[in-house]
Amino acid sequence: MFALPERVDMPVRLRGNRCRACGQPFFPARHYCAACTSGDMEDTEFADAGKIETFTVVRQQPPGGAIAPPYAIVRVKLDNGPTVQTVATNCDPEKLKIGDRVQLIAHRVLEDESGATVVSFMAQPAKQG
Ligand SMILES: [Zn+2]
Repeated sequence: MFALPERVDMPVRLRGNRCRACGQPFFPARHYCAACTSGDMEDTEFADAGKIETFTVVRQQPPGGAIAPPYAIVRVKLDNGPTVQTVATNCDPEKLKIGDRVQLIAHRVLEDESGATVVSFMAQPAKQG
């Protein structure tokens, strides 16, 4: 899904693929293009940044939820890439706005029963400038 950076909280670039026929990007990768049904796909790494297309703020803990609310679930349109859904971190979810620039980072979600660290990607506000 993505190459692990040297440590968590560093930017990550998601790996997916792109249709050679029409250019449509996909994450996760697909065998056939959902836009034009071509099977001519090439693997690619997408930008680690993009902007918020839409989001929702979660205020109640879902059953088994690993993250303490409130937090925002954001849909991020990656620069020159697909739209991905993830959780916003390192920000006040009440202050997010559609169109905000965000960066994807590796984030430690939890430790499983064996003590292994589970890492996923999350979005944090992009540094200005
Ligand atoms: Zn296509």
